[in-house]
Amino acid sequence: MEYRTLSQLMDAHPKLFKGKLPRVPSENPCGWGKIVHELCAQMESELDDAELRKIRIEQIKEKFGALRFYYSARLSKERLLHLRALVAVAEERSKQTCHACGQPAELATNGDWLSTYCQACLAQPMNARYQPLDFE
Ligand SMILES: [Zn+2]
Repeated sequence: MEYRTLSQLMDAHPKLFKGKLPRVPSENPCGWGKIVHELCAQMESELDDAELRKIRIEQIKEKFGALRFYYSARLSKERLLHLRALVAVAEERSKQTCHACGQPAELATNGDWLSTYCQACLAQPMNARYQPLDFE
């Protein structure tokens, strides 16, 4: 299972999504499918059923070369902080993972916006203009 699409992700995590699409139009960048799937699995295993009922996935997308995973949750501050930490780990992983193919990658830019691509995907004609950024 690659979890390339939102519906695959929703089917795999019924307690988290409850059959509802994210409130805001979303995409599941295929190279990050495993990261998003593992995050959803972690949320489902670490929260109990009552807590999961109080969570709504708001939006999943790429922004500035990193995963954004937005949700609303009516939980205690302690549980919200725990959730935030889980999501932060996934978002950090995405910054080092090609959002096209899932291989190790780094941030790149085309001059207008940031994206995360591996060298092989950067070499593809469509993305030939992207250059890796150096953040040292
Ligand atoms: Zn790639």
